[in-house]
Amino acid sequence: MRRKFIAGNWKMNKTIEEAKELAEEIKTELNEIDKVDIALFPPFTALYPVYEVIKDSNIALGAQNMWYESKGAYTGETSPAFIVDIGCKYIIIGHSERRKYFNETDELINRKIKTALEWKLTPIVCLGETLEQREKGETQKVIEHQFNHGFMDLDSVQASRTTIAYEPIWAIGTGQTATPEIAEQIHKFIRGLVQKEYGSQTADNFQILYGGSVKPENIDGLIQELDIDGALVGGASLNPKSFIDIVKKTSGG
Ligand code: PEP
Repeated sequence: MRRKFIAGNWKMNKTIEEAKELAEEIKTELNEIDKVDIALFPPFTALYPVYEVIKDSNIALGAQNMWYESKGAYTGETSPAFIVDIGCKYIIIGHSERRKYFNETDELINRKIKTALEWKLTPIVCLGETLEQREKGETQKVIEHQFNHGFMDLDSVQASRTTIAYEPIWAIGTGQTATPEIAEQIHKFIRGLVQKEYGSQTADNFQILYGGSVKPENIDGLIQELDIDGALVGGASLNPKSFIDIVKKTSGG
């Protein structure tokens, strides 16, 4: 039985004090949730302060990005060693904003996934199509390409330690969520790709999250779908009440 997972991607928001306050509020309200995995992804500057708030709780910490080498002359970059050192369990890799604004390619994403796994981090690998690609009927082709190249040379043990977030780009930050039916169709397709490459056991246990304007008003429908195992939440994770409601609804209450 796959566990549900709700992850809050704070993107480039929250000063240290604001981040600590948000994490405190979330921790207090969600401390009894045990049916759902919960993780917060603050900006780098707030990772350690947030770690101090949630370290003995049921909430895990994650980072939004990392480099694929562990040390060296990479000015401005962050090593997986530092991310582990600071207390992170998860790492978001290949978010569409990084693909778009920082030219991240599937090849780079593949290197990052491999390094993250070497450091025992759980990568949350983001896949998703643009509106133009969807309208041209290319969604599955795009997702398959991102999957095949992103997961290149990973074996089934490595794949089983990885999570995918299906995030249609046209639904991110736009308020335009994919309907549960549209999201489920692609989640099922992704699970099929995992099965083809890694077998039924890996596919059955593989967590696939949905991301794209998830809020308390639409989580119920999404979470009821067979292949949707939770959500990567952006905008709504910055508001404590919204994020708390999303987790509680996912937990069935
Ligand atoms: C995201 O940042 O991954 C995301 C899905 O954002 P939003 O929920 O704001 O659409």
